Amino acid sequence: MNYLTADEIEARLDRLASENPGLCSKIPPVPLFTAPKDPADAPPGVPGRTLRILKIGLPAAPGKTKTPVLITGGLHAREWAPPDALVSFCERLVKEGLGPAPQRKPRPLRYPLLVVPDRPMPLPSMPVPAPLVKAIFEELDLYVVPLCNPDGRVYSQKQPTGGVDFARWRKNRARTRDTLPCPPDKYGLDQSVGTDLNRNIDVDFDIDQFYSRDFYDEGWVHTAKDPCGTPIPQPPLTSVMDVDGESYHGDNPFSEAETQVLKNLIDNVNPTYMADCHAYGPTILHSWGTLDIQSTAPEKNFRNPSWDGQRSNTGYGEYVPPDLAATAENIAGQMSWCIELMKRGYPPSPSSAGAYEVQVSAQLYAGAGIADYLMSRQYTVPVPPDFRIDVVPPARYPFTIECGSGRENGFWPLRSTQFPKIERELHWGLWGFLKMAAAPHATIPFRAGP
Ligand SMILES: [Zn+2]
Repeated sequence: MNYLTADEIEARLDRLASENPGLCSKIPPVPLFTAPKDPADAPPGVPGRTLRILKIGLPAAPGKTKTPVLITGGLHAREWAPPDALVSFCERLVKEGLGPAPQRKPRPLRYPLLVVPDRPMPLPSMPVPAPLVKAIFEELDLYVVPLCNPDGRVYSQKQPTGGVDFARWRKNRARTRDTLPCPPDKYGLDQSVGTDLNRNIDVDFDIDQFYSRDFYDEGWVHTAKDPCGTPIPQPPLTSVMDVDGESYHGDNPFSEAETQVLKNLIDNVNPTYMADCHAYGPTILHSWGTLDIQSTAPEKNFRNPSWDGQRSNTGYGEYVPPDLAATAENIAGQMSWCIELMKRGYPPSPSSAGAYEVQVSAQLYAGAGIADYLMSRQYTVPVPPDFRIDVVPPARYPFTIECGSGRENGFWPLRSTQFPKIERELHWGLWGFLKMAAAPHATIPFRAGP
């Protein structure tokens, strides 16, 4: 069995929306945009794809406001597992979560026993309890974009030919300012096309202005300033990747049709919680992606011009108010705990090898992603002389889930044998995430059983 194509993902989401009116809708109902295509991918005149955004939830009870939540996946083309897992997550929630119309009573979902190759114990059969399903439908407006980079996925799923490994493709397929081809990279790919959609945001877009020169030159920032890649004068550190053209941040912030859609969605929906699903980890990351966080110096922040050109991992950390930082870490911890709960039954073992590790994004490498855009929107505009910032409530909680692992084939887990476990991990990370969004103070009785 193979990974879903972009066409198959779109068809599955369209079917889910049309079969469940009122519960799951495609927004907006007309195509959002025509993605600018590389002529090599589509002849002129062929319309581009549209992003499918599903809105899942029951109508709000009178006098009640629902909490908006955003779940995204597939920004990076080569990360094949998350979009498939998000499609199945939406289908499970909508098809199994509520009984038939018109009563539509929330009911528990059940994951059957799953035998995992090379693992002594199968994953136990586990229910998602009805109270959680009910809370998700009644308390949340869920916006899900399982595939944010359809053009990139089409390219990434092409059969390798002539020494070109298309599967490695990370960016979208739109043109950039570079009109000439780049020299082929080590996978035979021409990086003059495409923008890394998870770098195309405004927080640290001007790399030279935002970070200190040394910090960039030492290879800590995983963002290319030029389509063909930005050479790092000093050898890259072992903890970071090469900054080649695959991480090109685009010609301008939000220059890409795909990121414009996501920006508009975030601006209009104003989600309190966000989970952006990537591969691979296994890790659960919370903001910031720029630099590690601190909670004592509000003047050390991404908007303070006094720090321009000086931000590095010495003497600087992005300010996050202490209560917000603690809550974000707690939610990420609950997500990780929920994955362990699913894997081992109840009670979970407190520390287990291979568990999803909770980290600040910047502990992986520096570079703001789309989750950080949501993070950035909640802060006050700092004023001189001290340029302190604070949060305008409600606080926002964006996360990045890196699912799967290098031991499970990294970006391309085998679909029939390795993917089912990773799919289940991502689902349970999301159940934990939605539990914290929908019913943060409730006790939900998870119980493993037949
Ligand atoms: Zn990614």
